[in-house]
Amino acid sequence: MATWQCVKQCGACCHLDPADRPDLEEYLLPEELGLYLSMVGEDGWCINFDHISRECRIYDQRPRFCRVEVETFQDMYGIEPEELNDFAIDCCRQQIEGVYGDRSLEMLRFDQAVGYIPI
Ligand code: SF4
Ligand code: SF4
Repeated sequence: MATWQCVKQCGACCHLDPADRPDLEEYLLPEELGLYLSMVGEDGWCINFDHISRECRIYDQRPRFCRVEVETFQDMYGIEPEELNDFAIDCCRQQIEGVYGDRSLEMLRFDQAVGYIPI
């Protein structure tokens, strides 16, 4: 069974372009939506994302919506704890495909790390 983990130097979910996420208002609180939009740079990437190291510059202070945690996903998406693993894997794969492509090195690294076998 595949087990979700975040893969270092990926950063696909830090590409925040709202054009790619039309349902933001459905899962973010109004103040979170304001924060989210304030973090979107001109290139669509989060202004806190370091493109050289491919890491978050404010990792310990990152907003709730950046955290893959049971309570967060329950609140934001109505995902039950036992569903989190598969849901998070799907989210990451969708995001990686959108940002880097479905045959990208990032996708390969992610699939290998979590033990996902594409159908
Ligand atoms: S898309 Fe997934 S693996 Fe990539 S940085 Fe985000 S949480 Fe980590
Ligand atoms: S705050 Fe950090 S984790 Fe959240 S989108 Fe920006 S760079 Fe990524």
